[in-house]
Amino acid sequence: MQAPTSRTAARGKPDLRSLTLPEISRIVAEMNEPAYRAGQIASWVYKKAVGSFEEMTNLSRSFRAELSDRACLNPLTIVQQSKSRHGPTMKYLFELGDGQKVETVLIGGSRRNTLCISTQVGCAIGCRFCASGLEGLARNMTSAEIVDQVVQVRKLAGDDRPINNIVVMGMGEPLANYSQVLRAVRIINADWGLGIGARRITLSTSGLVPKIYQLADEKIQFELSVSLHAADDRTRSEIVPINRRYPLKQLMKACRHYTGVTDRIITYEYVLLKGVNDRFQDAEHLVRLLKKDKCKLNLIPYNPVRGLPYETPDEYRRTVFADALRAGGLHLTMRRERGRDIDAACGQLRLAESRKA
Ligand code: SAH
Ligand code: SF4
Repeated sequence: MQAPTSRTAARGKPDLRSLTLPEISRIVAEMNEPAYRAGQIASWVYKKAVGSFEEMTNLSRSFRAELSDRACLNPLTIVQQSKSRHGPTMKYLFELGDGQKVETVLIGGSRRNTLCISTQVGCAIGCRFCASGLEGLARNMTSAEIVDQVVQVRKLAGDDRPINNIVVMGMGEPLANYSQVLRAVRIINADWGLGIGARRITLSTSGLVPKIYQLADEKIQFELSVSLHAADDRTRSEIVPINRRYPLKQLMKACRHYTGVTDRIITYEYVLLKGVNDRFQDAEHLVRLLKKDKCKLNLIPYNPVRGLPYETPDEYRRTVFADALRAGGLHLTMRRERGRDIDAACGQLRLAESRKA
């Protein structure tokens, strides 16, 4: 399926929710309108989260009509909202303009709220345990679609639950949709956009080595998570197929380069899969691989996906594994299982929907 190219949505007009303030300023200048109008438009689009030109009430009708000749505003449609029984986790299923569906998850309590956003419809990487990759990649999301997840959920969550953290860990491999994702996170970061600090925006990758080098050279440096899931090439290639193209040695070199250039500490994500990567030898490999690095390690209990053979180890096994890593000198965190009852992991809600259909 063909994605709308770059920022250009239907009918060749850019979507306002994909534009930077300088780009909006250029449109305003072409319209011979005063420069401050650009800030007003950005504020309507990003801060006030309006879904149409008509709602921009401090702009005249004729100005809005001319603006709508030059740009469009096509918000995503929310088709499902579900709340976890066990806590405040919320999951949103959005429909895109062409009927594709993506998911966005709001995690956290009242003060610290993290939004997990999607960047692709499906995923081409095909990690064996992941729901997102099961049906391959349908298409990349545009920057407007990526940004709109934050704009809309922020409005829905309101002031009681301010969104102050973004993790690009929903459906898709963000670095495989590099230019749209970078445009989106810049807008999410900008003061005139959503105003969320770069240190509060985390990109997660399965290990696209050349893109990690490219990311290190960006002027804004975001936090980086790397989905490791195994510390030897044989196991990793089995469960994270991109490892065959960029094996651990290359990946670790790129990660060390990223930390060297940006001074940002990488978080390695490790989904625990019973009998696959939670054995004693896996702990040994992990200690050997990471013990000299300044990094964080996050152990994640696997969220089972219907139809896939993987299971999460029980609590005892998880504790034994974590203890072995600590004994080897690694610092780690263990993610709590949150929102399992609403399929709050990567790609699972969309999969459940498509299986219902
Ligand atoms: N494609 C990127 C970002 C999206 S996936 C990446 O792979 O990093 C975000 C994280 O969720 C990854 O660490 C991924 O391995 C993990 N994940 C995928 N399916 C999961 C599941 N069923 N249970 C727990 N974590 C899962
Ligand atoms: Fe894609 Fe990430 Fe899922 Fe792997 S874990 S299939 S890279 S979304």
